[in-house]
Amino acid sequence: MTDASIPPPNTAEGSTAIRLGVSACLLGQAVRFDAGHKHDRFVADILSDYFELLPVCPEVAIGLGTPRPPIRLVGDPSDPHAVGTRDPGVDVTDALAEYGHTMARRLEGISGYILKSKSPSCGMERVKVYSESGMPAGQGTGIYAAEIMRHNPLLPVEEEGRLNDPVLRENFIERVYAYRRWQELMAEGVTAESLVGFHTRHKLILMAHGKEHLRELGRMVARAGSEPIERLAEAYGARFMAALRHKATRRQHTDVLFHALGYLKRHLDADDKAEMVELIHEYRQGRVPLIVPVTLMRHHFRRHPEPYMDRQLYLTWQPAGLSLWNHI
Ligand code: SF4
Repeated sequence: MTDASIPPPNTAEGSTAIRLGVSACLLGQAVRFDAGHKHDRFVADILSDYFELLPVCPEVAIGLGTPRPPIRLVGDPSDPHAVGTRDPGVDVTDALAEYGHTMARRLEGISGYILKSKSPSCGMERVKVYSESGMPAGQGTGIYAAEIMRHNPLLPVEEEGRLNDPVLRENFIERVYAYRRWQELMAEGVTAESLVGFHTRHKLILMAHGKEHLRELGRMVARAGSEPIERLAEAYGARFMAALRHKATRRQHTDVLFHALGYLKRHLDADDKAEMVELIHEYRQGRVPLIVPVTLMRHHFRRHPEPYMDRQLYLTWQPAGLSLWNHI
């Protein structure tokens, strides 16, 4: 099974690279208020081999300079202001929001964004918000980050700290690749046929995130051909990306593997079948990582191709070398 739509790791030409926005300090750029950085090894040294990373520091971009007095979020946590920590008279909320608006349009072709946590500009969630008197008032979203996410609610967005969790890391990378495929479908000009094809290729991936999502999206594509395709595709894309945000559980992956095993039934002898079942159970019980039964299953499908499984991306979407599905 191959998937021509998955681009290879970045090449010198870089023409097929998937592009991600990233908070510049995570790449080791000395752009923080204290002229330091927050180099993140996974983002800067590993993901950079797979994606073209586009560094952005909104605070430097709006002219705050480095080093600079720190800012923080103040006021209503759902609609905070970014003001100087020492001089609350300095309010950069509008400047950060305007820059976020500009960059959201300029970066429209990106397939994901990695943000620095806890930042009053870049933080995706749970950023400290203070009252006017300086007391903790709740948690909010960085001003720049909020604008990026508001402009493109389908964009996969994650923070560097959360990427240390293997399940959240896999979820984010899976969403980036899926979103890239969605962008390609939209760029080609979606038709009823291509939307059905897209859904078909993602059936097992969706099943791993919850059968209810697969059923709901299946009902949507069943309407392809009987209602305006652009409107249907817009609704489908939003539901599709929302479905992938649900973490795929061990039980759901187990269901997918047994479902896929059904397509091997008439090809495998009793011993191979028993071995496959045993490995899936071991994964289910947390004794081996998911990649173990998946690797054996890939092997069997290479020897016994099945048209339905050939179209599925579930077993093959993972970029080699990122060690996904390799944890207990
Ligand atoms: S968190 Fe954002 S604003 Fe702060 S230094 Fe990093 S890139 Fe710049």
